[in-house]
Amino acid sequence: MIDDRVVLDVGVATAQGQRSRNEDSVWAADGLYLVADGMGGHEAGEVASRTAIEVLRGLAVGVPGPEEARRTVRRAHAFVRDLPSSTGRRPGTTATGVVLTEHGQTPCWLVVNVGDSRTYRMAGGVLEQVTLDHSEVAELVASGVVPADQASKHPRRNVVTRVLGGGSPHVEPDVWLLPVSPGDRMLMCSDGLTDELSDARIQAELRAQSGAQAAADSLVAAALAAGGHDNVTVIVVDATLRH
Ligand code: MN
Repeated sequence: MIDDRVVLDVGVATAQGQRSRNEDSVWAADGLYLVADGMGGHEAGEVASRTAIEVLRGLAVGVPGPEEARRTVRRAHAFVRDLPSSTGRRPGTTATGVVLTEHGQTPCWLVVNVGDSRTYRMAGGVLEQVTLDHSEVAELVASGVVPADQASKHPRRNVVTRVLGGGSPHVEPDVWLLPVSPGDRMLMCSDGLTDELSDARIQAELRAQSGAQAAADSLVAAALAAGGHDNVTVIVVDATLRH
């Protein structure tokens, strides 16, 4: 939904990196900002991420809350599961992002996540990851088996434990409702960004760029300069509150 008390400045950037195709999909309009990272080989990954976004676009209508977000994610899961699997491997996709909504008259970010793409918030120049990665390595870190500072180099870091589509009949998204604070900078990205750049580096890039599009462009350029092993997709959304 478009809340006329909130003014948004939005930047979007994506690059194929060293991969033969770009299987990430992105939606950035109507108060809804989503990144999806498809997997499945050949065209299946692209179709999976695009299909998920098409269904999740339904969240841009009305004043969605957590229950509607969960329902819409489950619907997206069903659509991706119904896609044909040409390679014997079921197509799947991550999905993460925010929709601008309200709760008790207060403008809020409704954050949704399935998989290991990420949504961050930078407030007062400090970057924090809002979402939790649904990956084997994140679970190993949470249980203390792998130290947090080794997670980004771990060989299992790209093994996701929850996806839209894939082999599981059900999916449970994580959902958060956060009040919009003036000056919030939201960042949505695929793992092609976070596998190449540390959170500290991402924070430095975001602090160095005042415009949302310049910030998105500089993050993608930095990920490519760091190797660009995967598709990299970034949305930056800056919020200002009108009084
Ligand atoms: Mn990826």
